[in-house]
Amino acid sequence: MTLATRDEIPAATRIVVKVGSSSISGDNAEQIGLLVDALATAHARGAEIVLVSSGAIATAIPFLSLDGRPTDLATQQAAAAVGQNVLMWRYQTSLDRYGVLAGQVLLTAGDLENATPRSNAQRAMDRLLALRILPIVNENDTVATHEIRFGDNDRLAALVAELIGAELLVLLSDVDALYTKPPYLDGARRIDHVAHGDELAGVEIGSVGRAGVGTGGAETKVSAARIAADAGTAVLITATPLVAEALAGHDVGTWFDAASEGRTAEHDAPLA
Ligand code: GLU
Repeated sequence: MTLATRDEIPAATRIVVKVGSSSISGDNAEQIGLLVDALATAHARGAEIVLVSSGAIATAIPFLSLDGRPTDLATQQAAAAVGQNVLMWRYQTSLDRYGVLAGQVLLTAGDLENATPRSNAQRAMDRLLALRILPIVNENDTVATHEIRFGDNDRLAALVAELIGAELLVLLSDVDALYTKPPYLDGARRIDHVAHGDELAGVEIGSVGRAGVGTGGAETKVSAARIAADAGTAVLITATPLVAEALAGHDVGTWFDAASEGRTAEHDAPLA
């Protein structure tokens, strides 16, 4: 089913939710609770939910006594190894309140580009969802190098939505919607709805979010939204504290229509 409007979100059967580093690390680590509340509510009504979570590197910063996000690759890789572990522990501890089990899925760009690892990843995700497990996906930062990265987790989330044939992708960050210009500027207006193929002419897309701990911004969200929409997945961009409203279909954030002809047959095809 292609979702046509926010009103249809409460009936969506397969949803990918992506959350950015600054929303769930540092002082915002407590937002994991409200995020999990919303995911567990959707899970309890029978929806299949996948969480794409950034924040491995950001979560490690205090544990490794770093001043900020490390800039060299080796320290980023080491930080991701430490932070991913802490992050999964935090998610599972919160999910325990609902009796929901998380499954960690770490992917590299090559895993989704090459047929065999791609179909392995697809099969594993399908089985996790059939087992009612909540997969939590991140880039496998410990082995990813600058040359072979997804770029950012917004893109990873769009590719995961495409991989599993999700009806909806929700991109969560610190900003509640896309605006006609950076939201701190006078006269910035919320963009409610983006039709498929709308080039957003005249919109000033900048980088948003708390600088320093993550890598995404409005620009990466728009390009991820386009990848997902082209593949037949509707997209909602909003702020992490609004996740419950978003999943209940309320009028929050910016909605991107999916291409009506977008859904590929890949997801339904027999696995190699
Ligand atoms: N994979 C990175 C992490 O978990 C974040 C990438 C991003 O912010 O897009 O720290």
